[in-house]
Amino acid sequence: MKILVINSGSSSIKFQIIDRDSEEMVASGLLERIGISDGRMKYKCGEKKIVVDKPIPDHETGLDMVLTTIVDPEIGAVKSLDEIGACGHRVVHGGEKFTSSVLIDDEVLRGLEEVSDMAPLHNPANIMGIKAAMKKLPGIPNVAVFDTAFHQTMPKVNYLYGLPYKLYEEYGMRRYGFHGTSHQFVAQRTAEILEKPLEDLNIITCHLGNGCSLTAIRGGKSIDTSLGYGTFCGVVMGTRSGDVDPAILFDLMENKGWTLEQIKTMVYKESGLLGISEISMDMRDIEEKMFAGDERAKLTFEIFADRIRKYIGSYAATLGTLDAIVFTAGIGENGWELRELICDNMDVFGIKLDKEANQVKGVEQVISRPDSRVSILVVPTNEELMIARETVRLAL
Ligand code: ADP
Repeated sequence: MKILVINSGSSSIKFQIIDRDSEEMVASGLLERIGISDGRMKYKCGEKKIVVDKPIPDHETGLDMVLTTIVDPEIGAVKSLDEIGACGHRVVHGGEKFTSSVLIDDEVLRGLEEVSDMAPLHNPANIMGIKAAMKKLPGIPNVAVFDTAFHQTMPKVNYLYGLPYKLYEEYGMRRYGFHGTSHQFVAQRTAEILEKPLEDLNIITCHLGNGCSLTAIRGGKSIDTSLGYGTFCGVVMGTRSGDVDPAILFDLMENKGWTLEQIKTMVYKESGLLGISEISMDMRDIEEKMFAGDERAKLTFEIFADRIRKYIGSYAATLGTLDAIVFTAGIGENGWELRELICDNMDVFGIKLDKEANQVKGVEQVISRPDSRVSILVVPTNEELMIARETVRLAL
């Protein structure tokens, strides 16, 4: 039996087919520019790859293309759609309503629509993917897996801002956190690698991709995380600023003639690695320039590392004791020079990096020295597999 994992964006659908028993990914693909005249589907099954350029007017048509392709006798991943036992969907925001993954029925769908405003760029698109799957694969269970759910265990002390309490009561304004599926996946894997029960471990997970967040995990439960109500706070990211003093934003609007739209564009799309370096949002480009002697690239790299160090320090204090720090996602898994800078001179926390072991990219590895009190690990994330597991747990 296979699980179809769908991550549906406003103009895209990412999908994977994962074998239930072996947990292997048997096929994957990406549909882009849905609703825009020149759509594209990229699909891969083992060695076989295709790219199809044709208009994809909506998500239903997109899913039709996926279903036709995965049963194709030449390039397909399954003989018939009967092999698909369930669909797992990534849903960005579950608000306070969804504290764990759920099997989707009409009532859940209504609940999803209720919390949709919390992530207006993402949730409506996720719902489109769910509705398309319910229509095109009738009779197959659908499961929603939320980016926010893992963080619903945070205590109030950590999820409330220092703002008037009524903002929380009236509008649900609080820290929610994101990347939960990834933080949970790598925390579970860390316990397996260290051969210790997850319940006994205090872990800081560092998800460093285009979006970045750190999470403090006690006994397998998120107790604090660096993304918040929205998705631009915390550490510096590819194009997002991370924490800023709101006084700067007020000043820009009050005295420098900036509009709200300009401010939003700046903090979400023009800041972070891109904004500081004026080179690129991609860490590989920053590193290349830095190694060629570019001072701004070096400064960008150092700011990025500094903010992560500060969050590690703060979460070590929150946790009280620390057993492991885990690096994951594009930069966390590959950027060994960055990991070296982050872990440099962290003796105060008992963090000692094995510089040789650290020189790995994209593979699971313990990178701390034997005399380090805290284990340091690289653990490649696999959000799709986590979604498939949750789908099996709830639907099959
Ligand atoms: P997303 O959040 O979109 O899933 P990824 O997890 O793929 O992003 O991470 C993208 C980031 O990972 C980019 O900044 C990219 O430069 C970085 N990255 C990928 N490979 C490397 C590498 N070999 N060295 C350093 N950074 C890398």
